[in-house]
Amino acid sequence: MEENEKKNLLIKSGSIINIQHDRGFVSDILIKDGVISEIKENIKVEKGSAVEIDAEGFRISPGFVDMHVHFREPGFEDEETIETGALAAVKGGVTTVACMANTKPVIDTQSLVKYILRKGNSSVCRVLPVAAMTRGLEGKNITEMGLLAEAGAVGFSDDGMCVADSQLMYEIMRYSKQFGLPLILHEEDYFISGDGLVHEGYYSYMLGLDGISSLSEDLIIERDITLAKRSGAKIHVTHLSTGGSVEMIKKAKEEGVNITCDVTPHHLFFNDSYLESFNTNFKVKPPIRSEEDRQALVKGIKDGVIDAIVSDHAPHLDTEKNTTFKLASFGTIGLETFFSAAFTKLCVEEKIKLNKLISLITTAPSKIIGIDGGRIKVGDVANLTVIDTGGEVEIKKEDIISKSKNSIFLGHKLKGRIICTVSKGKLAYLLNNTKEKG
Ligand SMILES: [Zn+2]
Ligand SMILES: [Zn+2]
Repeated sequence: MEENEKKNLLIKSGSIINIQHDRGFVSDILIKDGVISEIKENIKVEKGSAVEIDAEGFRISPGFVDMHVHFREPGFEDEETIETGALAAVKGGVTTVACMANTKPVIDTQSLVKYILRKGNSSVCRVLPVAAMTRGLEGKNITEMGLLAEAGAVGFSDDGMCVADSQLMYEIMRYSKQFGLPLILHEEDYFISGDGLVHEGYYSYMLGLDGISSLSEDLIIERDITLAKRSGAKIHVTHLSTGGSVEMIKKAKEEGVNITCDVTPHHLFFNDSYLESFNTNFKVKPPIRSEEDRQALVKGIKDGVIDAIVSDHAPHLDTEKNTTFKLASFGTIGLETFFSAAFTKLCVEEKIKLNKLISLITTAPSKIIGIDGGRIKVGDVANLTVIDTGGEVEIKKEDIISKSKNSIFLGHKLKGRIICTVSKGKLAYLLNNTKEKG
């Protein structure tokens, strides 16, 4: 890779995805010193002056934006670091991530926001910090949101936790308004979810696993819609899992509430019948729910209620997953399968247009967190992803480059392969057997 860094890059004959139109256009892209310098057909360069990538038959997308990941740094570096998380990101075609604040210490001060930015600067993708809404994620005292925004936070979230105190949540909403950044909400009523492990329904009863009722999510979303309506705050509900939540958010949007939302590929992909395997990688929060819920999420994408797709990349050590269902940690990694899993479900099975999926993972999340991602434009630092939509990839443990291997997709075959990723102007990932000249 060292060698490539010094050279210019010429991506030949790829079909560039145009989010506004179904049809892309075939073109070359020349990247000089990290900046897109030309987009046109038949670009000629001096022999040996650029690394050439043959993208004929492949699609070229703006680099993906994943506004919800856990990189575990600081505090849990044996699970993932910003450096290794970024490597997993570019393998999945992702060139920008927003990191959640539930590290140790929690990202609730200016210096910690700056720490994430500094670490991100030396990693292969753009890493943006999400700061905590409450100090230490304790759900008691509001953080210094103004200072955190000034330091570079792109949003506020207690993700992993839900603010149980409704009065405090209302104060957070009113206070956050002046900063224009979204509140990214993990919606869970602990009195209902309790010690639950999986979705409460037929399979939880049959398998004898404690259930988490859909009410846990629906009730808090209902509360927060009411509070957002009253306060005028900008809220973003993350990782929807229930049909009820889609319905409520649809209605709230119609009423003009400042609300957006996202879903993960694993909630679009699986239903709770997969729990029969007792595979602890299926233990995630919110839980994988019923087929009816899954279909409602897909419909939410089709209807435009769901704005974005996020991985909720949640690395855990083998020791945390290789145990009983009861003791295992919640979460699955998701960056390396981010595109392929969503593409398989939405585009291959549900016939949703590729440019629609691309908007859900580029322009839409960029808009929500207020960054200029999601475009391929002359003069910009190059962030782009070359996709083989006809390709297939089998998810194997030995191929995972994330520090943690807890993928819910292990053993599954997914359609759509990432061929190469250019991130921050550099060739950051290239599939082994791709032709590369120069
Ligand atoms: Zn969460
Ligand atoms: Zn999360």
